[in-house]
Amino acid sequence: MKKFKSDEYYCPKCNSPLKIDNHIVLTAIPAGKIGGLILFEPKLGNFNIVKHETCEIRTGEQVDFLCPVCHANLGVGEETLAEITHIDMHGDEYKILFSEIMGEQATFKIKQGKVENYYGADSGKYMNFFGVGPDE
Ligand SMILES: [Zn+2]
Repeated sequence: MKKFKSDEYYCPKCNSPLKIDNHIVLTAIPAGKIGGLILFEPKLGNFNIVKHETCEIRTGEQVDFLCPVCHANLGVGEETLAEITHIDMHGDEYKILFSEIMGEQATFKIKQGKVENYYGADSGKYMNFFGVGPDE
């Protein structure tokens, strides 16, 4: 597997790289609105985001996260979680699941169906989901 100088993130559907410079770029679409691009911190557990000043997405709103390249919906099953692929500096591959509720702090690092690490004050809300296992 390829090695990189830093952590990389990819669309699980089209494998396009989603980290440009030092941000992960995703399209966020709230129900009934146009939405916009949102920039995320590549460091897991850092929940700061950047969006355009005209972007109407508000804290507490649920959004659909889409790949900005292939427009696939990154949502996972019934839960309000979305998924991207993460390859770290050592070439190890993980699934990263994160909340689709704006402002909610819940991110999970998954390796072979098991939660390897989790981040954020709201992550406890999803633990039952992982009790069943994130791989169906
Ligand atoms: Zn894609």
